[in-house]
Amino acid sequence: MPIRGTTQLLGVIGYPVKHSLSPVIHNAALESLELDYVYLPFSIAPGDLETALSGMLVIGVQGFNITIPHKQAIIPCLKSVSPLVDQVGAVNTVKREAGAWIGTNTDVAGFLAPLQALNLNWSNQTGLLLGCGGAARAVVVACWQLGLAELTVSGRDLAKLQAFQASWQDILPPGFLKVVPWEGWAKELAAAALVVNSTPLGMAPEMNHSPLAPKDLDQLPASAIIYDLIYTPNPTQLLAWGQERGLKTIDGLEMLIQQGAAAFQWWLGQPAPVDVMRAQAWARLFPEKL
Ligand code: NAP
Repeated sequence: MPIRGTTQLLGVIGYPVKHSLSPVIHNAALESLELDYVYLPFSIAPGDLETALSGMLVIGVQGFNITIPHKQAIIPCLKSVSPLVDQVGAVNTVKREAGAWIGTNTDVAGFLAPLQALNLNWSNQTGLLLGCGGAARAVVVACWQLGLAELTVSGRDLAKLQAFQASWQDILPPGFLKVVPWEGWAKELAAAALVVNSTPLGMAPEMNHSPLAPKDLDQLPASAIIYDLIYTPNPTQLLAWGQERGLKTIDGLEMLIQQGAAAFQWWLGQPAPVDVMRAQAWARLFPEKL
């Protein structure tokens, strides 16, 4: 749709922002539905965040995504945030409401969507989450929402792992989240219905790395699902080994697309054309695979 006097603004703020895939997938979605919107990247340095938020209100921006380094820093600048933000501790989507900004987090919905599409019963099932950084927080909330009976989280830094566990004390029921040191996660594999990699192990350019070795994958139940949050390369070494063994795998690109779809729906009040967004994302990142 051509840009006109009536065209409304959406976007993403970050620093840097030029590598963001969001303009590609959102503009494809907006065009496919012939919506009179355009989605732009805004490079905002940390010290300029408050000024930028005021300016974006003034120029009529309707909503935007937030990427590094603003995901936590933006919280005190918002009029209100959804309960999910209190749990995850980060905002990745903001929209205008009555002349102010309100925030939410769509990473939880993005992570959940491909798992929910499988229509499985997760009660009595346990999961293993590797890594306890920022993305791991959305995974924990998602696994709780999914209905898993128990989630074991492992991290290489014991102090960070313990702080991570303590941070959930008032949010999750006792017994849902347990932690094991990095040397101890292999013992969890035989019972794991879901294994999630939220570390950067295997991310380009170190594409031959993987948190699990082939011998670890051999310990998993045949029905286990391997979910790697990394979206380049695709598949990661971890997912490729899982696929060789006939295990179900989910890649980080699907999570990225689905968090975008959830943001689109929140801003515009209508379902996102997920197929269009997925096709654009794949065409941009992996044209050789089409
Ligand atoms: P983060 O906050 O830096 O957390 C990374 C975690 O991995 C930390 O617990 C870190 O431990 C651990 N880690 C790093 N290197 C490790 C190694 N060599 N061995 C073991 N553990 C290691 O990063 P994040 O934001 O959570 O992102 C994690 C991954 O998820 C990245 O690959 C990112 O691209 C991906 N991601 C994908 C999506 C999506 O939509 N698909 C969204 C968000 C993130 P230390 O604290 O000890 O360093």
